[in-house]
Amino acid sequence: MRILVLGGDGYLGWPTALHLSQRGHEVAVLDNFSRRLWDHELGAESLTPIETLQQRVAVWRQITGKIITPFIGDLCDYTFLEPVIRDFQPEAVVHFGEQRSAPYSMIDRQHAVFTHVNNVVGTLNLLYALADHAPDCHLVKLGTMGEYGTPNIDIEEGYITITHKGRTDTLPYPKQPGSWYHATKVHDSTNILFACRIWGLRATDLNQGVVYGVETPETTMDPRLATRFDYDGVFGTALNRFLVQAVVGLPLTVYGKGGQTRGFLDIRDTLACVEIAILNPAPRGELRVFNQFTEQFNVAGLAEAVREAAQEFGLDVAIHHLPNPRVEKEEHYYNAANTRLLDLGLKPHYLSETLLESVMRVVMHHRDRVRPELIMPAVNWRRTHNPVLPTEE
Ligand code: NAD
Repeated sequence: MRILVLGGDGYLGWPTALHLSQRGHEVAVLDNFSRRLWDHELGAESLTPIETLQQRVAVWRQITGKIITPFIGDLCDYTFLEPVIRDFQPEAVVHFGEQRSAPYSMIDRQHAVFTHVNNVVGTLNLLYALADHAPDCHLVKLGTMGEYGTPNIDIEEGYITITHKGRTDTLPYPKQPGSWYHATKVHDSTNILFACRIWGLRATDLNQGVVYGVETPETTMDPRLATRFDYDGVFGTALNRFLVQAVVGLPLTVYGKGGQTRGFLDIRDTLACVEIAILNPAPRGELRVFNQFTEQFNVAGLAEAVREAAQEFGLDVAIHHLPNPRVEKEEHYYNAANTRLLDLGLKPHYLSETLLESVMRVVMHHRDRVRPELIMPAVNWRRTHNPVLPTEE
C-alpha cells in the first residue's frame, strides 16, 4: 500500500516508517522537525544520537535498497500539505505529527496555545486535504488513553452504550483530559468524527498508552537508523526516565503516591498495532477507536520493576516520592478495555525483566550523554507560568 507517515522523524514515526517499508509498502514521511527545535528551546536532546532525516533515509536505502520519500514541511501550512496529499495519493495516512508532551503544553499560555494550534489545526488541514484529494484514504490517527482520564467506571474503546431515562444510545465515551495537550487529542477526536460523518471519510483513532523501549528490528540494523530516546522532565515518559535514573545512580522520582495507573506498551507493539489498523481499514463514514496498550501498571509498580531489573546489573537504586507537579488522582480505579487490537491478531510483547535489561543496556552505552539536571520535573500544573527555559534560569 501507499502510506504517508506524518511526524515520520519522531520517536514512533521513524521506526513505524522503517517497519512499513520493510514489509513492502511504499512509504513517505512528512515532518517539519519541530521536535528537534523544541529540544533546542529546552536545552535537551535525545539520549541516543540521531541522524538527520535525510541521512536516515539514505542509510535505509543503502542497506535495504528501499526508498522512503521525505516531505519537509508543516501540517499547519495548507499550501504545503494539500499538494502532498494530492500528488502522493496515500491509501493510508498514519498521523503522529503533533506536539505530544503534556508538560510542554502546561509551561505557560504561549505553549498551551501553540500546542492547540499545532495539533488541532494540523489535523483539521489534513481532514480537508483528504476530503478533497483522497477521500477513500484510511486515516490512522494517534490519540491517547489520556483522553479518557481516570473515571470510576470501566473505560470502553471509544464509545459507550448508555440508557438514560428509558432511551438507549451508543455515544462517544466521556473525555476528561489531564493537560492542555490531552485536550487537543479530544478536540481532534471530535473533529475527525464530524469529518467522517459529513464527508464519509474513514478513520481509526488509536488511543495509545505510554510507550517504552527504544529498539525495533529495523532500527538496530545500523546505529544510524536509531530512533530518539527522551528522558528529560518535559518529554521523557515515566519508564524511560526511570531507566536513565537507575543507570546514572539517581533515585527514581515517582510523582506523588505513585498509585496513578495507566496503560503501557512496548514500542514494537506500536508498530504492530499501526500495521494491523492499516491492513484492516475502517469502513467509509466511520471513526473506529482502538485502545492501544497491552498492560496496566501504576507508576510506583514501574519504579519497583526498574529497581529489581537494575539489581541484575549490580545497581542499587532508591525510589523517592516527589510532590506531584501534576493535578491528577494518585489513587483511583482503572480498568480499560483493549480487546479490539488483540482480536485482530496483535501478539503483545509484555514488559519483562529482559526488556528492561535490554533498554538499560542501551542507556548504559550512552550514559556519558545523560544530563541529570534535565530529569527533574520543572512544569507545575498549578502555575500559569513555569520558568523552564534555560534563558530564564
Ligand atoms: P515525537 O515528538 O517524537 O514525534 C512527533 C513528530 O511530529 C516530530 O518529529 C515532530 O517534528 C513532528 N511534528 C509535530 N508537529 C508537526 C507539524 N505541525 N507538522 C509536521 N510535523 C510535525 O512524538 P512520539 O512520541 O513519536 O509520538 C507520536 C504520536 O503518538 C503523537 O501524536 C503522540 O501524541 C502519540 N502518542 C505517543 C505516546 C508516547 O508514549 N510516545 C503515547 C501516546 C500517544
